[in-house]
Amino acid sequence: MGRSAFISDRSEPNSLPDGPWTADDDAAFAYLERVVWQDGFRCRVCGRAGLSEPDSRKHWRYCGHCRKRFSLRAGTMFAGDTMPLGKAISAIWFMNFGEGPVYIARLERVMGTSPGATQRLFDRVSRAMSDQGLEPLGSGGDMISTSAEFERRLRLIALY
Ligand SMILES: [Zn+2]
Repeated sequence: MGRSAFISDRSEPNSLPDGPWTADDDAAFAYLERVVWQDGFRCRVCGRAGLSEPDSRKHWRYCGHCRKRFSLRAGTMFAGDTMPLGKAISAIWFMNFGEGPVYIARLERVMGTSPGATQRLFDRVSRAMSDQGLEPLGSGGDMISTSAEFERRLRLIALY
């Protein structure tokens, strides 16, 4: 790494966390279910808990009472989103704990996501954070020291 790259990295670190949701899609949905639906994923129609996993679609749940099927994204800010869930969760971490100011172009570069998708996510997360009184901590924190606070924030943001 050259000197200029080093200086650039120091002034604007771009490291994403190696979180429990980053390995693959399965890991991301397992994390979402554990953190956001910690009281159990409930049917969006009849409100009952304890939904089972349908055999045909991954990351969906089936309600044995009203027979509806739902993605685990339903009822969260990720509903209808095409961005991979793990990337969206990483973006939320970055907007809360990334070092230095987080603006759209920087987020787009770090995430490797399209301008439109990045803009939409950025706008939604910014609005949720602002309305929930969550200031970016800008700590560049590691996963161990930030995990409890991140999970609290992710729940507030995702369900906003
Ligand atoms: Zn139901």
